[in-house]
Amino acid sequence: MAETFDLVVVGGGPGGYVAAIRASQLKMKVALVERENLGGICLNWGCIPTKALLRASEINHLLHSLDAYGFAADNVRFDFAKVVKRSRAVAGQLSGGVKHLLKKNKVTVFDGQGALAGPGKLKVTKDGKPVAELAAKHIILATGARARVLPGMEPDGKLIWSYREAMTPAALPKKIIVMGSGAIGSEFASFYLNMGAEVTLIEVMDRILPVEDAEISAFVHKAFVGQGMKVITNARVQGVRKGADSITAIVEANGKVQDITADKLISAVGIVGNVENLGLEGTKVEVDRTHVKTDPMGRTGEPGVYAIGDLTGAPWLAHKASHEGIICVEAIAGLHPHPMDVLNIPGCTYCRPQVASVGLTEARAKEAGHEVRVGRFPFIGNGKAIAMGEPEGFVKTVFDAKTGELLGAHMVGPEVTEMIQGYGIARTLESTEAELMHTVFPHPTVSEAMHESVLDAYGRVIHI
Ligand SMILES: Cc1cc2nc3c(=O)[nH]c(=O)nc-3n(C[C@H](O)[C@H](O)[C@H](O)COP(=O)(O)OP(=O)(O)OC[C@H]3O[C@@H](n4cnc5c(N)ncnc54)[C@H](O)[C@@H]3O)c2cc1C
Repeated sequence: MAETFDLVVVGGGPGGYVAAIRASQLKMKVALVERENLGGICLNWGCIPTKALLRASEINHLLHSLDAYGFAADNVRFDFAKVVKRSRAVAGQLSGGVKHLLKKNKVTVFDGQGALAGPGKLKVTKDGKPVAELAAKHIILATGARARVLPGMEPDGKLIWSYREAMTPAALPKKIIVMGSGAIGSEFASFYLNMGAEVTLIEVMDRILPVEDAEISAFVHKAFVGQGMKVITNARVQGVRKGADSITAIVEANGKVQDITADKLISAVGIVGNVENLGLEGTKVEVDRTHVKTDPMGRTGEPGVYAIGDLTGAPWLAHKASHEGIICVEAIAGLHPHPMDVLNIPGCTYCRPQVASVGLTEARAKEAGHEVRVGRFPFIGNGKAIAMGEPEGFVKTVFDAKTGELLGAHMVGPEVTEMIQGYGIARTLESTEAELMHTVFPHPTVSEAMHESVLDAYGRVIHI
């Protein structure tokens, strides 16, 4: 006999577990099926453990910059195994926290693989053996995504790493090649560089962090090179040759082919959705390449079946997954949530220097037909950034010249991943330059650079 729920969520990542909790708040009887770890990729293999590692590399950088602050310390060293262990402990702590939250919200958790088994039905199996049969009027698929693999360069756990191996290394490699300079690739490149490895970052597009504003990409490129990283753009890894303890990437760049040899190669070339073994065959759920197609409320073509998060495509971000989960559940409950505005989803990269953005880049704004006004403010004009010893970077704001609407904001520099939300709120409130200029920013804070960038767009900048 199938156990009956109002809602069954498949996948316990930031999309799935947040959807389950919101549904419980709305008085639904909810089950969640997770085959691996509660918290999904984000808590266990993504956002959180990488930030724990990056914290260690920031500390290492700081410890090697003590002189600038009037300190001296001899024999500064680290235990790499402990750095990795701490990252895993942080992930474990948060995954445990999700378990607690689901229990508190009376969500029934099933440990196993979920698959649709006819209208309103889901079967759960573990190691191929049946665990449960569930029935629900509503089923949300939140099964996430995994690393894209290039043929001939499949992660082998030894010489070629996916993000999982890159996050749990047994020892610090001396030389690393990072293939792909999106957020994940750039974060690993920055982590290993700041821990002392020799890093080569290879990007097929004409610039690193290709989704960011071109000026931001150029700034980070220069900063990485200044820190000692080798960065090659317009470059394609044609193949690899594996040695006993080394790997050689055959790289074609600007018409020339070169061999680059390292201890490890991290493959960070994109994301594919987990659409397999979900029982989608014979349903009206549409899959576009590896992502499930939905309407703005998360409905698929199959009545009663919804999809959220990484499974539904870019941007592959935890906060996008969670927000989609809330919208989907509220729509199921008959509320009238606002659909997601993809331009209001901030994106952050926690490399050194940090990068954060929301809305349209200057180029995209122009492509969309906007006449733009652009403001820029460098952190070298900001008292707090100078006091902190981190004056590198700038804030760029893009406005519609006719209406004053804030179309986009792009930042590189200290704490920008914490600050971008100020512009996020401005965009949600459909703020114009007038409200932003009228807002009082606390002094001294690095956030004052956000204000000055707006002022600059309108010829009123003070501190530069
Ligand atoms: C290295 C790395 C760093 C990242 N850093 C950031 C960051 O800083 N900020 C950010 O916003 N995003 C970051 N991300 C992306 C973020 O992790 C994802 O966007 C987010 O996890 C997506 O959430 P989700 O719920 O859609 O899917 P997931 O987190 O992938 O969760 C899906 C869950 O479903 C389970 N599952 C899959 N199939 C089944 C099935 N059939 N039955 C039962 N369970 C199933 C999986 O085991 C998994 O736990 C990072 C990703 C990586 C890889």
